[in-house]
This record gives sequence, C-alpha cells and structure tokens, in this order.
Amino acid sequence: MNYRAHTTIGYLLLIILIFIFLEFFSKTTVAIFTISYIFALHMLSPDLDTRSKIYNNWGPGRVLWYPYQKTNRHRGSSHTLKGSFLRVVYFTAILTAIAILVFKISGRAVVESLKTHNTIIIIFVVASLVASYQHIIIDRITAKRRKV
Ligand SMILES: [Zn+2]
Repeated sequence: MNYRAHTTIGYLLLIILIFIFLEFFSKTTVAIFTISYIFALHMLSPDLDTRSKIYNNWGPGRVLWYPYQKTNRHRGSSHTLKGSFLRVVYFTAILTAIAILVFKISGRAVVESLKTHNTIIIIFVVASLVASYQHIIIDRITAKRRKV
C-alpha cells in the first residue's frame, strides 16, 4: 500500500484513538501520544526498509537508517512485530542519547532528568508501536485481498 493511503488510514485510526484515550488518560498524555503517533506515521513507518517516501522524509538524516535497510529486506522482518519493535527501540535509543547530551551540556543531573521524562519516552514508544503495527496489519490485509 502506498504512503498516502497508509497516512490516511493512520489518521482515521488516530481520531478514533483520541476519543477513546480521552476517557482514560489526561489531556497531556493524549497530546504527547498524538504528537508521537503523527511523527511515527510520517517518519518511523516499516517502509523505512526501502527507498520510500518515508525514507526521503528524513533528508540528510537518512543516514540513520542505512543499517536498518542493510539488515531488512522490504516487507521482510521490518514488517513484523519484532522488526517494528527493534526499529522503535533503535530510534528511542538515539533520542535518549541526544537527551542525555542536552542534559549534560545544560548542567542538569542526567539520571534525575531522564526519570522525570520517562513517561514521555514510554508514551513515545507506545505511540510509535501503534502507528507501526496498524501499518503492518493494513499491509497484510491488502496483500491478502490482492491475491484473491
Ligand atoms: Zn509497508
């Protein structure tokens, strides 16, 4: 399925999720989820495994995904639950490394600062996984239909 179709379905699902989540979580949590999910929809999809639109969205930052492309065939392990989990963990590790650097430079206590921000990190991981998994599910459904 192409980028536009994936993005459209992704946003429809997001609207439903926002309505459900607002019943259970704070507005701040839902806002962080929404921002993370939209980011993941445009920047972290399983299709980073090929020279896709999403890959080009990274501009010069594409270099981050060279190792990922080298180790994943298109629609191979990247399009599995484990592959998406590894991709999200990989990127979260990079983000955390940048955060540590920023905390260090600004003279804050690194461990303490990470602890106060860990909810954001967890929400980011969950949102990215939801965005990735819906992509995989849609790919599988449409692939099956094409075979029939
Ligand atoms: Zn795909």
